[in-house]
Amino acid sequence: MTAYAYETHEYDVVVVGAGGAGLRATLGMAEQGLRTACVTKVFPTRSHTVAAQGGIAASLSNMGPDHWQWHMYDTVKGSDWLGDTDAMEYLAREAPKAVYELEHYGVPFSRTEQGKIYQRPFGGHTTEFGEGPPVQRTCAAADRTGHAILHTLYGQSLKHNAEFYIEYFAIDLIITDGACTGVVAWKLDDGTMHVFNAKMVVLATGGYGRAYFSATSAHTCTGDGGGMVARAGLPLQDMEFVQFHPTGIYGSGCLITEGARGEGGYLTNSEGERFMERYAPTYKDLASRDVVSRCMTIEIREGRGVGGEKDHIHLHLNHLPPETLHERLPGISESAKIFAGVDVTKEPIPVLPTVHYNMGGIPTNYWGEVLNPTKASPDRVFPGLMAVGEAGCASVHGANRLGSNSLIDLVVFGRAAAIRAGEVVDPKERNRSVNTAEVDKALARFDALRNANGSVPTAELRLEMQKTMQADAAVFRTDKTLAEGVKKMEAVAAKMDDLKVTDRSLIWNSDLMETLELTNLMPNALATIVAAEARKESRGAHAHEDYPNRDDENWRVHSLATVKGNKVKLTSRPVHLDPLTGEKDGGIDLKKIAPKARVY
Ligand SMILES: Cc1cc2nc3c(=O)[nH]c(=O)nc-3n(C[C@H](O)[C@H](O)[C@H](O)COP(=O)(O)OP(=O)(O)OC[C@H]3O[C@@H](n4cnc5c(N)ncnc54)[C@H](O)[C@@H]3O)c2cc1C
Repeated sequence: MTAYAYETHEYDVVVVGAGGAGLRATLGMAEQGLRTACVTKVFPTRSHTVAAQGGIAASLSNMGPDHWQWHMYDTVKGSDWLGDTDAMEYLAREAPKAVYELEHYGVPFSRTEQGKIYQRPFGGHTTEFGEGPPVQRTCAAADRTGHAILHTLYGQSLKHNAEFYIEYFAIDLIITDGACTGVVAWKLDDGTMHVFNAKMVVLATGGYGRAYFSATSAHTCTGDGGGMVARAGLPLQDMEFVQFHPTGIYGSGCLITEGARGEGGYLTNSEGERFMERYAPTYKDLASRDVVSRCMTIEIREGRGVGGEKDHIHLHLNHLPPETLHERLPGISESAKIFAGVDVTKEPIPVLPTVHYNMGGIPTNYWGEVLNPTKASPDRVFPGLMAVGEAGCASVHGANRLGSNSLIDLVVFGRAAAIRAGEVVDPKERNRSVNTAEVDKALARFDALRNANGSVPTAELRLEMQKTMQADAAVFRTDKTLAEGVKKMEAVAAKMDDLKVTDRSLIWNSDLMETLELTNLMPNALATIVAAEARKESRGAHAHEDYPNRDDENWRVHSLATVKGNKVKLTSRPVHLDPLTGEKDGGIDLKKIAPKARVY
């Protein structure tokens, strides 16, 4: 028996997370009349999605010719041929529909002269299967696209009677006979405990950028969904692929959108050289993110960094017309002023590659259903559980995500999860009774952390983890740094048993909440570094100095990491090579997306 009383809530579906993915899923579920709860640790419109500036990719052809097949090709190439073909096709095909839906829900997109949705160029988005010039595919609401999407989806969800549980922290999943049947949550402002009993749980908890020291993501991006899944004994997929954004403001990590380069911004080294022209003659500053981040790192390592310590790079916007800056990039001008003290109309912005996105996550099919693969059945579904958004791995981003492909992933797969739930969840069926043993287990873990009385404060251990990840699982990786990193991280994770929590209160106890978050960050971080150490090739964001080439024969596979304590067990799952529709039926020509070298 647990020492904590709890209140039970009955729903058809409970969505954990109210970012773009969670809200789109919530709205879709509620629209179909499923009784839907959305549980979120921060107010919905404060989710990290609010910070997305640049935009959302869809082949609307508003600014020139475009096709979903070209978008798919770019996504396949961007993924460095690790994404699942069926999921990438689904994303590119459904993207225009999903964007028009957003428009009809009320997202205030920027407009062209003709009143169509404005689209800007973004890195890696091209025409003619990579043979043509860059395309303007990224739909934008100025540089506040995520903000606009969140506000619209939240309003629409309320309109459809979704019920929000705001500032509730989900602690653990409830697993009953090999299926997920709910979650246990702690209400932060009054200390009460809550059980959400449901037929379907959707994890939309976002990424785990905060496993690293310098990240563009919010402090709330702590991989809670991945942590819950790992504790349930399920694997995480492709965790070694962590995207560094080329332009985090030096020092603070605050993001300068790729849209800045899309609007004509460019990078220079200490010699004033536009060095990207040397590395990527065709797409230059708009080559894909991993390529630009690596080139910047090479420039710095070879002594051509800017600043007193020659440890960063300059981003120029000062040649752009002030109207463009004002209209298209107002938030950027403000961030540069606040975080770097720079007036973008006059001086360059100091920037550095910074952790930005987690390609890996909870493995799912393209309906968002969580996979529990075995060798014999790699696509086996774990009933009652879905994952969408950055927490999930469908996988459309493979080894590297293209800019503006995440926001579209949120809405396409949030919507897909709702469509699928409409098929598998029967609102007339009664919920199973609450699995009290599982609730007790979750609350016992909570209680043990609340009373943790060891010698290492949470903040100290978190910092040690973040510095280790930053040093040893960053842009450049070698056998030596990774092997050392694994050892260090195992030692760091072992200290979880010796945590010290000083505040025992149940109300607004940030020490305890951050401790719960650390128990989620840790398995994500461990899986990342162990999978990185094991992958003996370079692919997308995983650039391994000792194995500089991609090795499709041995490594075109998804890695799966099962975390137990401070150890990780690795297995793998084949990449889906088959499209949803063949060329004959208006689908993709497989020859067009066959693996080749990824040059921009
Ligand atoms: C600065 C920045 C700019 C970006 N710009 C772009 C862009 O222009 N275009 C693009 O395509 N992508 C962009 N990205 C990436 C993209 O914004 C993110 O990948 C995406 O917003 C993630 O959305 P999400 O819904 O998965 O999660 P989030 O928006 O991070 O939301 C997570 C939700 O989960 C909830 N949650 C988490 N843990 C718990 C818990 N334990 N209990 C209860 N609730 C919990 C939180 O409260 C929150 O509501 C950007 C990312 C950053 C960091």
